Amino acid sequence: MGSAFSGQLREAHATARERANELSDWDAWIDGRSVESDATLETIDPAVNEPIATVARCDAADVETAVEAAENAFDAEWSGSTPRERSRALSEWTDRLRDRVEELAFLECLDTGKPRSQARGEVEGAIDTLEYYASLCRVQDGRQIATGDDLHLYTRTEPYGVVGQIVPWNFPIWAAAWKLGPALATGNATVIKPAADCPLTTIRIAELSEGILPDGALNVVPGTGSEVGAAITAHEDVRKLSFTGSVGVGTEVMKTAADTLTPVTLELGGKSPFLVFPDADLESAVEAVANGIFYSTGEICDAFSRALVHEDVHAEFVDRFVEAAESYVLGDPLAEETTMGPLTSRAQYETVSGYVECGTDEGATLLTGGGPPDEDALRDGWFFEPTVFGDVDNGMTIAREEIFGPVQTIDTFSSYEEAIELANDTRFGLAAGIGTERTDIAHGAAADLEAGVVYVNEYGPILPEAPYGGFKASGIGTDLGTEVLEHYQRTKSVYVNLDEPDC
Ligand code: NAD
Repeated sequence: MGSAFSGQLREAHATARERANELSDWDAWIDGRSVESDATLETIDPAVNEPIATVARCDAADVETAVEAAENAFDAEWSGSTPRERSRALSEWTDRLRDRVEELAFLECLDTGKPRSQARGEVEGAIDTLEYYASLCRVQDGRQIATGDDLHLYTRTEPYGVVGQIVPWNFPIWAAAWKLGPALATGNATVIKPAADCPLTTIRIAELSEGILPDGALNVVPGTGSEVGAAITAHEDVRKLSFTGSVGVGTEVMKTAADTLTPVTLELGGKSPFLVFPDADLESAVEAVANGIFYSTGEICDAFSRALVHEDVHAEFVDRFVEAAESYVLGDPLAEETTMGPLTSRAQYETVSGYVECGTDEGATLLTGGGPPDEDALRDGWFFEPTVFGDVDNGMTIAREEIFGPVQTIDTFSSYEEAIELANDTRFGLAAGIGTERTDIAHGAAADLEAGVVYVNEYGPILPEAPYGGFKASGIGTDLGTEVLEHYQRTKSVYVNLDEPDC
């Protein structure tokens, strides 16, 4: 039965990969057209560990071409476009993407291994984000500053020109939309690099901009971080950088950007706590924490990877949480009933396995999961069971480092002060969650927690209307909201002398 199903899975995915390759040649997208690169790389289907497609592997010379195309587009057309024209172009593009939700969800699911329903939600979230920035094109303004009658003083905001954008593999299309929407809405031209592991949807949405965005306004250069990412970061004609990824690479990006004094926005990792207070509705708290660590196989930057639970409700929370963890349906990500797919790569599988071993070695108690599922059918892919550790001390490696997989730690607290202290005892500050029915605790903790995003009695959803960014080592600046528009614009003050008219 197992191996028959494994055969079915392999067969279904072979057909799916053929379909993916009918959609595109997976070249770079530069100056409004597909451009082959000298070298290629393979993107892997993590459910069966087979290559999906051969994708362009760009190099520094391709980055040079892309930056030049972006500069030309900016100078020739895009910087002079009116907000209304940009809004219309972005809206037309998003309309075209909306007609392709299923195609894009299929590609995202195949490339990342996340369940199809989640991939569909992220595609819709990406389109919604682009629509939001299409609408914001038309509400941008400067301000007039009060002075004497002999002076007219006002500010105007201007795009940087060419911006460089680098995104990770865990939310490929969504992260790309977070970057592209505000950059294009404010009149910048962009060179974006998707992660080498999951580049398909970013390439595809660029192809679908053909004939709508001016040639060169949006360029996609797939490739490795050390070649393409480093070349974008160091390029002196890239006037603004926006990076989402790990703390280590983000730090390197910032150091390199310092050489050209290029401003950077950094969206980095997390080790987000969820605090379960004694009055919490345990059903909703368990659901929030489970969604916050097992969604997308735990490959989420704002994962609620540390549950901090009041000692009075700890035992019940643990029982319910383990039950929730064991209820996930691991399987073919393309199947609608699957609620957890594989990890996205062998490297991530090895990282997660290493942390689980470390947790056990350091004395935490493994309550469920801890390795690949038994099913023969899933043996070829990078599947990993939902994993829960109890008896975790906040000093343990598994409580301090970002694991980026479906691994939950549970620790206890006995007072509000201790809960906040434990929650903030981390280098990260991306997100935090609060489980309580009391408004004083909800709002008090929201203020006391060092995190850029706070969820009360839920995990997500992330809306484009609100800024999203991390405190401490989780980042600098924000994505989303109206706030991000400031990151893609420079402000100029204009002094106009208004001497008494003498004619
Ligand atoms: P990563 O830092 O390894 O890579 C991110 C991107 O940077 C990739 O495109 C990669 O190719 C590129 N890159 C690698 N080396 C580079 C270099 N030297 N110069 C320039 N670019 C380089 O991260 P990842 O493994 O792809 O993604 C996982 C990380 O991203 C996690 O830490 C996660 O928390 C974080 N993340 C943060 C957010 C957020 O909004 N804060 C969202 C998603 C993911």
